[in-house]
Amino acid sequence: MPPEPSTTHDPAADVRPAYVAVALDLPVDRLFTYRAAPEQRAQADIGHRVLVPFRGRSLMGFVAEVDETKPAFKVLDVSEAPDGHALLGPDLLELGTFIARYYGTSLGEALAAMVPRGVRHKGKGQKRRRVTLTDDAKAVVREADGKLSEPQQRILRRLRKHPAGYLMSDLCRAAHVSISPIQTLARHEIVTLTTERSQSDALEEAAREAPPTEPREPTPHQKTCIDALVASLDDETYEAFLLLGVTGSGKTEVYLQAMARCIAQGRQAIVLVPEIALTPQTVKRFRGRFDNVAVLHSGMTEAERAKAWRRIRAGEADVVIGPRSAIFAPVPKLGLLVVDEEHETSFKQQSVPRYHARDVGIVRARAAGAVVVLGSATPALESYRNALDGRYTLLELPERVGGRSLPTVQIVDRTSGEERQRRGSHIGRTLEIRIQEALRAKGQVILLQNRRGYATSVACPRCGFLVECEHCDVTLTFHRSDAVAMCHLCGHERRVPGACPDCALPRLEFRGVGTQTVEEELGERFPGANVARMDSDSMATRDAYEDVLGRFEAGAIDILIGTQMIAKGLDFPNVLLVGIVSADTALALPDFRSGERTFGLLAQVAGRAGRGDEDGRVVVQTTMPTHPAIVLAAEQDYPKFAATALEDREQFGYPPYRRLLRVVVRSKSERAAAERAAVLAKIIVQAATTTTEILGPAVPPIARVQGHYRQHVVVKAPTHREIAGVLAALRKAKRPARGIEEAWDVDPMGVL
Ligand code: ADP
Ligand code: ZN
Repeated sequence: MPPEPSTTHDPAADVRPAYVAVALDLPVDRLFTYRAAPEQRAQADIGHRVLVPFRGRSLMGFVAEVDETKPAFKVLDVSEAPDGHALLGPDLLELGTFIARYYGTSLGEALAAMVPRGVRHKGKGQKRRRVTLTDDAKAVVREADGKLSEPQQRILRRLRKHPAGYLMSDLCRAAHVSISPIQTLARHEIVTLTTERSQSDALEEAAREAPPTEPREPTPHQKTCIDALVASLDDETYEAFLLLGVTGSGKTEVYLQAMARCIAQGRQAIVLVPEIALTPQTVKRFRGRFDNVAVLHSGMTEAERAKAWRRIRAGEADVVIGPRSAIFAPVPKLGLLVVDEEHETSFKQQSVPRYHARDVGIVRARAAGAVVVLGSATPALESYRNALDGRYTLLELPERVGGRSLPTVQIVDRTSGEERQRRGSHIGRTLEIRIQEALRAKGQVILLQNRRGYATSVACPRCGFLVECEHCDVTLTFHRSDAVAMCHLCGHERRVPGACPDCALPRLEFRGVGTQTVEEELGERFPGANVARMDSDSMATRDAYEDVLGRFEAGAIDILIGTQMIAKGLDFPNVLLVGIVSADTALALPDFRSGERTFGLLAQVAGRAGRGDEDGRVVVQTTMPTHPAIVLAAEQDYPKFAATALEDREQFGYPPYRRLLRVVVRSKSERAAAERAAVLAKIIVQAATTTTEILGPAVPPIARVQGHYRQHVVVKAPTHREIAGVLAALRKAKRPARGIEEAWDVDPMGVL
């Protein structure tokens, strides 16, 4: 039930205690009642933060309801009600209630995801810590004694390559480790932890020096879009728009001019961007136009985030820009929500609550009477269908700004004639010629290979033995720079054996292409060119990412090779050629979104070409030259692609024609996982309506991850109502035994 807005207190009432129902960050579907003493009442009102005792612990929670009647059961006292104001207004509390109900979590779990940790636990925010290698000699000795764990070895390998060290969070991500092995190394005085106080953040700097910009004279197409948005803003009621604009069509200018109107009305705007697109370049475009822009991003410390949050809550920011979680920014009066690149899967959170920021944004905007703009050159099929059905208003920018044309795309069939793959070569004849031409014209080149590493598998050419992860059901990728084979799921690393362990053939073969392979080949074929690589191995730190972008912008890099990281939002006028080394990688995945993803990725990366005065070219290498996702991406014909893809989705019963719920069970015991999945499947069958289809329990395409066996059940239903019925039954089910983890994902991004 949506909580009532907080009311002003009758001072006479404050002589009585109150009984407050508190939402705690626990996976249980209920509120917990505590007694607030009369003098605490004003501080323990709805939306306030309180500290309460719970099973011998002290937990922070949010007050969801207040009652004066003493309950029949025994209640404990609120230990502390520290704030004079509500942290969550009625709008955000209501949004939390929606998230809990829709995604099947407790209210406390939903609210905990909405408020930054630094705000929830004042003063407890973690600091930015830098890890540097200080005594490698000691490390070598311990290693020789066999005293270093695998995670510790991974940490050291990374640190040896980066003498400047890593931020703790970056190192955890790069080496696939938790904080604890780093702390162990620190205790042995092999690494040193230093606290970074000041935030020398590139985003902040870029923003501060952003030169002010004036609104541009809109093109006729832009004007139509801006007029529609302004008219809708002036109505001050909810309306959602899908802005379908080809790459380089000037979507940002449309956002900016709509935002100007929203600010003039005294309301605030939120702009959601994919995490990877939150570059100084992006931030500059907003800071240059508006004075009070708050940026939220993952590089901030908890304290910085808390500070920004309070500033936003006080109404001091006209515009908030950030990734997924910025949808919870406590702006007092939301007028406009922009979701840029709305098709991006990073808007879906992969941990509890598994919410989708775009969908939550629609709900928030509707309640606030705000206007929503979802922008993309390749919208999610769900959004496009909503536009076709009239739930969203469709706005289109079919042409590039400034009379620029979309790049010409050439599909190259790597199975035929001269293009046929030569041994060890991943750049075919046509692509090679085009790269030479672009370099000769002093242009820059972007190459996409959406796999990192050197060889995506290592195999025995005689008996077929594959080097696989010990913990996951995948082959290991060989990383040449570290000379190890690495698991991309869990980070496990091992040396590549000199001979096949099965048949003793003394030479294993490297198969499959990764970014490192292409980088190496580029170095050999274009010795005069400056080549840089951008993938999550080379870009382990945010600084490294900014650095490469900066050098590319300055023209110090001729060829940039990378994974999907390079496909997002980069706007560099001198890019004359975009090459896709292999368009096949994503198509092979057994997932209902693989066609959509491939189309999106190809169209987006192709859009990086020809943004300046020169026309751009795109070369797509593939072994499936007639696949619709590839052909239509080359034609950059989104509506045509969407029409065929929607037909498939309808035929096979996938979103947007069906709602999905995916339940995943994991356990180290294969049997325990299968048994638990069977129990859950039974519960689902009982709760499901006749219109609901239940697939499984079954082993998902990736059967084992980090030593855990997996099982899943996929539920397909005509509407969310049936899914909600199943969720309710699952929430009531007895919790699994120890050693079994389970997760349910409403509107999953995939089924792998
Ligand atoms: P999109 O986000 O649709 O890919 P951008 O917003 O990046 O496109 O715009 C592409 C380029 O066109 C940018 O360099 C932008 O500054 C420029 N631009 C946008 N609108 C106008 C306009 N009305 N007049 C001149 N230049 C514009
Ligand atoms: Zn693994």
